[in-house]
Amino acid sequence: MNPSIWELDTFYRKRDAIIIGSGFCGLWSAISIKEKFPEKSVLVIEKEPIPTGASTRNAGFSCFGSLAEILADAEKMGWEKTLDLVKLRFDGLQKIRTYFDPKEIDYEEVGGFEILNNEVALQKIDEVNSKLKSITNLEKTYTVQNQKIAEFGLGNAKILIENPLEGSLHSGKLLVALLKKAQNLGIEFLFGTEILEISETENEVVIKTKNAEITTEKLIYATNAFTKKFFPNIDLVPARGQVLVTEPIENLKLKGTFHYDEGFYYFRNVGNRVLLGGARNKAFHEEETSDFSTTEFLQNELEDFLKNVILPNQNFKISHRWSGIMAMGTEKSPIVEKVTERQILAVRLSGMGVALAPKIGELVPNLLEVRSLKSSNFVLLSSFLLNLPQSQFFTSCQFFSFFENCYIFHIGRKCIYFCVTIFNQIFIKKSTVF
Ligand SMILES: Cc1cc2nc3c(=O)[nH]c(=O)nc-3n(C[C@H](O)[C@H](O)[C@H](O)COP(=O)(O)OP(=O)(O)OC[C@H]3O[C@@H](n4cnc5c(N)ncnc54)[C@H](O)[C@@H]3O)c2cc1C
Repeated sequence: MNPSIWELDTFYRKRDAIIIGSGFCGLWSAISIKEKFPEKSVLVIEKEPIPTGASTRNAGFSCFGSLAEILADAEKMGWEKTLDLVKLRFDGLQKIRTYFDPKEIDYEEVGGFEILNNEVALQKIDEVNSKLKSITNLEKTYTVQNQKIAEFGLGNAKILIENPLEGSLHSGKLLVALLKKAQNLGIEFLFGTEILEISETENEVVIKTKNAEITTEKLIYATNAFTKKFFPNIDLVPARGQVLVTEPIENLKLKGTFHYDEGFYYFRNVGNRVLLGGARNKAFHEEETSDFSTTEFLQNELEDFLKNVILPNQNFKISHRWSGIMAMGTEKSPIVEKVTERQILAVRLSGMGVALAPKIGELVPNLLEVRSLKSSNFVLLSSFLLNLPQSQFFTSCQFFSFFENCYIFHIGRKCIYFCVTIFNQIFIKKSTVF
């Protein structure tokens, strides 16, 4: 089907920025771009009728890491990266609360809990609390609350750790709120539009869809688990997460969000129902898929966990089962980087995109700016040189051959300072607009 001239002038016209994917990452990125560059046109293209990956199909934990999870991360990637990730998530949760009324998205700071069945992580609780203090502003982010094991009716649990800053939200309502916010900012959408092929010319990126080609100045991939279609060699694997929800349970004791087994099992109450997900570590290989089905094996694992740990000696019925697809990699950190001067990746949000996406969204507009390496080197080097004493200044200038062809070298330092300032004002300012 050929597009009409009306369609080409409107829906399929060239945009300043196009984002592929309308999950949390795509929407927060679109909002941040539009906030930073209100005059730029921004379009989000989504292959499904609604966002369909992980964002609408997750567990709705607003969390930044349990004790055992943080220790496991630190062991794999070191404390610096682990704390960076905790900070991104912590700040991300604050951002959600400044953008939306908690009631609009059912945001509840009900507390996050972790069940531990040995003391290994417990021995490091003080160390982790002191490392997290500068992020959470709490003396003790994690405390032992074993008395709550009985209060919540949990079975097979030896130690319960509480983090008062975590909670839950309604992922569907958060996405709807983000869509509304995006539309109010003038961001446009094409749903049900799968991108088939992408190519880049000197002047633009060309996006081929079933019905038309659309061009853009900049393209952002917020395709998370589905990114391999465009970048087959990227360090990313799809990871299916299976979930079940019970029917309402009378006098349900459970309240809050819960982690178990370094976060491989997660459960919470949704009103008086229990939502439970995970157990991916019981079938790692089988769950490395982007197929949205559920499997008997994993659903049975989840039901066993429900019987033994969450609802021991209680009758329950399962009302819903579903799965969503995450993106994992050899590293837990997300990939937020330029592929070319015009194409940017914002993917691999692992099992923590609710909290991460608001801050990843903020990084994307910075990557759209063109700040040539040469120009920033110029500024750095010139500031360095201008701070040197007179004699060293001239020797260094000769050494770097920095101003060798520049006549102002002979006029003096003040002139150079003036030129650098003008250069900054004109060249850098111009070059930071995309
Ligand atoms: C079962 C489960 C439970 C989870 N629980 C939590 C939790 O409690 N807390 C938490 O913080 N995180 C949780 N996560 C992780 C979190 O949901 C993800 O990290 C986050 O949603 C990722 O957002 P995203 O926008 O990057 O990806 P997605 O939400 O997957 O969005 C990617 C979008 O790109 C679209 N797309 C892909 N390819 C194309 C194409 N070719 N053309 C057009 N569109 C395309 C897809 O259709 C999709 O809508 C969970 C995930 C799962 C699966």
